[in-house]
Amino acid sequence: MIFTITELEHHPILFDVVYQPGEIELPEELRQVGGLHVEGSAELLKNTLGEIRLRGHVKVEIEAACDRCLEPAKVPVDSDFDLFYRPLEKVDTHGEIHLEEGEIDISFYEGDSVALREVLREFVLLSLPMRTVCSEECRGLCPVCGENRNLKPCGCTVAPKDERWAGLKSLEL
Ligand SMILES: [Zn+2]
Ligand SMILES: [Zn+2]
Repeated sequence: MIFTITELEHHPILFDVVYQPGEIELPEELRQVGGLHVEGSAELLKNTLGEIRLRGHVKVEIEAACDRCLEPAKVPVDSDFDLFYRPLEKVDTHGEIHLEEGEIDISFYEGDSVALREVLREFVLLSLPMRTVCSEECRGLCPVCGENRNLKPCGCTVAPKDERWAGLKSLEL
């Protein structure tokens, strides 16, 4: 779905769309599980900047590798968005981008339209947490043998860090 300035000049556009996996391009380490549902509105703001405001709600489930055990972990995204898009050429003429406090949600669009897929791609990536874990209780991979410790205890003994430091100290002396 693409919102053009020409159409938005006449009226806001309401949308309610489901994107199937693959329709929105994600980095290869991420996988969309099931449909991505988005509903909301696009409007051209009545100011001289040519700003487009996109508001709505997106719901999707993303699968990423658990940071501890590397098994697939599900990350739900279920959030409201309120985003402002400004034409890129207005930025170029001024050379520099000055964003005032509270304007951090402003992005830029090229040409005379904004593609919903691009907006969603960006929004979903920003919504993902910095760390992904399959479960808070995940025991991760054994640093000695590499076994997934959630599946079976491998019996390796991992030397506590403190002992190693103690060893170094005695060498120094
Ligand atoms: Zn895990
Ligand atoms: Zn082990």
